[in-house]
Amino acid sequence: MNSQTSTFRMLIDGALVDGEQTMAVINPSTGQPFAHSPRASLRQMEQAINTASRSFPAWSRTTMQTRRALILRIADLIEEHCLELAHLLTQEQGKPLRDAQAEVQGTAAFFRYVAQCRIETQTLEESTTRHAYLQRQPLGVVAVITPWNFPLMLLAFKVPHALLAGNTVVIKPAATTPLTTLKLGELIVDALPAGVVNIVTDHNDLGDALSSHPQVAKISFTGSTATGYKVMANAAKSLKRLTLELGGNDPGIVLDDADPKQIAPGIVRAAFFNSGQACIALKRLYVPDSLYEALSHELWSHCQRLVLGDGLDSQTTLGPLQNQQQFQKVKSLLEDARQHGRVLSAGTVPEGAGYFLPPTLVLDIEDGTRLVDEEQFGPVLPVIRYSNVEQAIAMANRSPYGLGASVWASDLERARGVADQLQAGTVWINQHIDLGPHIPQCGSKQSGFGIELGAEGLLEFTQAKVININPGLGIAAQDPQKEHMNAEQTSN
Ligand code: NAD
Repeated sequence: MNSQTSTFRMLIDGALVDGEQTMAVINPSTGQPFAHSPRASLRQMEQAINTASRSFPAWSRTTMQTRRALILRIADLIEEHCLELAHLLTQEQGKPLRDAQAEVQGTAAFFRYVAQCRIETQTLEESTTRHAYLQRQPLGVVAVITPWNFPLMLLAFKVPHALLAGNTVVIKPAATTPLTTLKLGELIVDALPAGVVNIVTDHNDLGDALSSHPQVAKISFTGSTATGYKVMANAAKSLKRLTLELGGNDPGIVLDDADPKQIAPGIVRAAFFNSGQACIALKRLYVPDSLYEALSHELWSHCQRLVLGDGLDSQTTLGPLQNQQQFQKVKSLLEDARQHGRVLSAGTVPEGAGYFLPPTLVLDIEDGTRLVDEEQFGPVLPVIRYSNVEQAIAMANRSPYGLGASVWASDLERARGVADQLQAGTVWINQHIDLGPHIPQCGSKQSGFGIELGAEGLLEFTQAKVININPGLGIAAQDPQKEHMNAEQTSN
């Protein structure tokens, strides 16, 4: 927080506004501030929630055609400004520019996909005695709260769905990566009616005010499990609808028929993508005795090909940790791991104050150590030896988390058998971190609940409502099969 001016502004009630204070945003590749962000006061947060609430009735009565067109317009604007957004994303988040571009393009693609989704009314019974239908209604104001690892992409898991369903939104990005979200606000300010999308940036101090506000009907939250507990407690006060996408400690199990050469590139990508700062990164790998040496050798050789550096450097394939706190946390886990395993770090660390950690394998380490048991969220992969597959499944399931998991094998039938026994929202086979806008994403155990993406994810932004008619009285109703929520008569 300081008195510097910010060239970025928040979006409240259809206007770009300054924060009552500003805060420095640090480039993790240099460890130095490179821009200033507005920092909202509690009053500004409340103003954003109030305006979203006031705008809800009119927005919820717009036709689906209108909403589709506006979501597509947002997708166009993101694409038109892809390079600018990607450059900013690399500076605030640290990821290599190529990955930042992919994130921006993915964000636009997810908006575009959602724009063509349908929300149907379901016929429950049409008999001479009863006509019953299940239709879907918007909820009201949705709080969209995002973390710092994929500031734009994770917003695209929530915002287009909320808007298509007829809700208004208040978006609150993480304090260390506010700028790309603010930039998006600047791009879309003239495209949407005032108050439908609001963007407020804080110093990690207004989350409680947003998630406990009585006018917020739903919270769509992505972040750590520790914060998830607080959000759930806040939501309970007024029984808000809630989707929690929380932390993970994804295991990968290699079966003894796998080919080390074939699977190593996919495993290294899954563990080191975004410098390991992905909720669904592969965070612990279980390898049978028979393949341990050969696979460790292959993994090491792929780690050595990663190039650590500033994401704006075209050679870089692995960026820094996003913030000082995360940097210190992963370093402390690595320090602890040195006492329990063989630590192999590849490449050279750039000089300077950036938050750089080299890609690291930790061999001969076991369950029960901090690095294996905690969510490490860094460019480090512990490789754990096992002697029978039941033991590996038990170790994989021992975690309180249950986000993703993967099985690596040649015999896909056998791999399916292991996948069936893993406690996770998604189990991949011979891959990890594969997502699509049509594929539901969900956590189990303490990785959260509720679903994002896919048809189920869209419905989470709606309230089910039953219409039950006695057809013996009155004149027949119109076609109930039409898309609900002020569907245009011609539909779509
Ligand atoms: P975090 O929980 O610290 O912060 C997430 C967001 O919550 C931020 O915007 C923060 O300002 C806000 N917040 C803080 N206190 C709040 C409160 N009391 N009420 C409401 N909001 C509050 O998480 P982070 O460190 O930014 O992100 C990393 C974590 O996110 C990791 O645990 C990672 O696994 C998780 N994550 C999960 C998914 C998923 O889909 N399951 C995806 C990405 C990241």
